[in-house]
Amino acid sequence: MESVTIIGAGESGVGAALLAKKMGLKVFVSDFGMIAEHYKKELIDNDVPFEEGGHDFEKVLVTEVVVKSPGVPEHAPVLRMLKEKGRKVISEIEFGHSFYSGLTIAVTGSNGKTTTSGLLYHVLKTAGLNVALGGNYGRSFARIIAEDAPEIMVLEISSFQLDDIDTFKPYISILLNITPDHLDRYDYKMDNYVNAKFRITMNQSASDHFIYNGDDAEILEKLKTFTGQPNKISITHNKYINGIVSKDTTQSFEISIKGRHNLFNAACVVEACRILNLSEQEIGNGLKTFVNLPHRLETCGTISGIEFINDSKATNVDSVYYALDAMTKPVIWIAGGTDKGNDYSVLFPLIKDRVKALICLGLDNEKLKNTFKPHIPAIYETTKVSEAVETGLKLGAPGDVVLLSPACASFDLFKNYMDRGDQFKHCVQMLNV
Ligand code: ADP
Repeated sequence: MESVTIIGAGESGVGAALLAKKMGLKVFVSDFGMIAEHYKKELIDNDVPFEEGGHDFEKVLVTEVVVKSPGVPEHAPVLRMLKEKGRKVISEIEFGHSFYSGLTIAVTGSNGKTTTSGLLYHVLKTAGLNVALGGNYGRSFARIIAEDAPEIMVLEISSFQLDDIDTFKPYISILLNITPDHLDRYDYKMDNYVNAKFRITMNQSASDHFIYNGDDAEILEKLKTFTGQPNKISITHNKYINGIVSKDTTQSFEISIKGRHNLFNAACVVEACRILNLSEQEIGNGLKTFVNLPHRLETCGTISGIEFINDSKATNVDSVYYALDAMTKPVIWIAGGTDKGNDYSVLFPLIKDRVKALICLGLDNEKLKNTFKPHIPAIYETTKVSEAVETGLKLGAPGDVVLLSPACASFDLFKNYMDRGDQFKHCVQMLNV
């Protein structure tokens, strides 16, 4: 490969451009939309030619290899055209992989990717290993290789990033779970989504490892016809539900993050660390000192004995299921936003025991109200976070929890889930002075 065209100039595309430049390739970047200022500056500073606001087909056709950013949908006209003209279109992950000789650990799944890859990175880093974290979250794979080429790479990988891989071959792959999400990108066929996730294993050989959720129905179904090579390691609930036992002390590891789902995530991490020959003590040190990113079951204050928890990142039903499951106190639940076709029925058994009241925080709350009317004694609605927090405080008694775990996207009232979570935390802090 002597030259490369890159479609899309977000974190992945710009990372790929920097890597291409570093490797001495001729590179051209083309974005259908406008490029964010800080990325544009990076391209200019590194002498990378680019275009924005549309693709000039003649220019993008110049090279044999095209790197596509994961945000560009498969049916985008420019990709179709490139494929019709016989160009090789690869993902940024594939591109990065072809220049990386270190050890890759790749984490995918519908929920828990950021937490699990962050935890794994933390444990390895605390044990003194030369490791970096990136991929779908934070720095792109290609950028990390261009900037610091660590010995071990922990990658959070979305299904989109697996769409156009060819030889990408992680030493350890972790598949956390598969629940319906992003089906719009997979022709609304669950099979396509499951297959996309399993691509994480497609080049693994017998000396590689595949850690997977052995209680996940979709994964188990797919495994019936799985012919892949890697050493398969199943994590089932009996391995972690009463704690994950350290082999040295026969005591359970102390784990800083709470909830059954996080015990599962930690069990996957422990398995990966054992493959990498970390000592039990090193694993234990990392597990107990990890601080998760905000917006994931984040306690953000206690007022009059009522605990406020920000789980704004819970944008689908499955993650709310685990949030409610992790609650040991009566819950006043704040939910709502842009519904992505949710089926809430899995929540009913959990609701019955725990939820005292539901506060709907969204522009259109009809579906939530109608669904939960038979199950929750008190339902309120608002479009203001401040009002949701105040109502929670009013309804709560000492020992209760007010939980923001929306099950929905945030775009009706907020910029994104982080904005929603930050506003929630701010309102709690204002009441807590
Ligand atoms: P992702 O990166 O896959 O979006 P995150 O780690 O950011 O995952 O977590 C997203 C949401 O899913 C949070 O609300 C979190 O509490 C929840 N979650 C984390 N791990 C799991 C899991 N193993 N199963 C289900 N939900 C999970």
